[in-house]
Amino acid sequence: MNTAKRFFSLEGIDGSGKSTQIDMLISALESEGYSVVKLREPGGAKISERIREILLDASFKGVMADKTELLLYNAARAQVIHEIIQPALDAGKVVIADRFAWSTYAYQGYARGLGADMVQRLTELTCGSCFPELTVVLDIDVARGRARTAKRGEAPDRLEQEKAEFFERVRQGYLAAAREFPDCVAAIDADRSAQDVFADLYKLVKGRLCPAP
Ligand code: ADP
Repeated sequence: MNTAKRFFSLEGIDGSGKSTQIDMLISALESEGYSVVKLREPGGAKISERIREILLDASFKGVMADKTELLLYNAARAQVIHEIIQPALDAGKVVIADRFAWSTYAYQGYARGLGADMVQRLTELTCGSCFPELTVVLDIDVARGRARTAKRGEAPDRLEQEKAEFFERVRQGYLAAAREFPDCVAAIDADRSAQDVFADLYKLVKGRLCPAP
């Protein structure tokens, strides 16, 4: 079966509204007859969830090497592609991922400074042809995103403990991806009402999604 045009991902710093928008998108698509699989990265498969625990463990702050982080994200991704994404696409389902390979581009490539080349080579190895048709970046000012997540009142994980400058670099990495790869990455202003953001997101996804079965 043709697996093209049914795989989408959302990106953006924490608090940009990814999970809110994904829930809205999935209900819209399901009401149109699409069967949708939702994923959150890192995670989704049992092995990937175990890797997630290591990646987010706050006690590894200052201990985990940047390359270890890069490889673990890719290992988690390889497993979820193998176990969940590729089989779902083969079965004709739509896959919506909360973060995917462009997170690695922005966080490890840009913000950690490992560079786009290293990340892209590894992404090719990990993903092969299993890559989102379109990735929508929810762009928001770092302080605005933080103010939204602060309301959750949860203890920050290892990545969330990074300073504002780190997330500013992540944001710039996402914007660079949208500039350099406009065919597969689109950035939209996420500092608006959820309904206004969704109107843009929906238009972008529907412009690329294959027709409902
Ligand atoms: P992410 O998944 O990117 O971390 P969430 O969807 O969990 O973001 O949103 C973070 C917080 O901001 C949540 O409390 C959510 O209700 C709120 N939120 C989401 N979208 C908006 C929006 N457009 N305007 C204001 N608050 C929002």
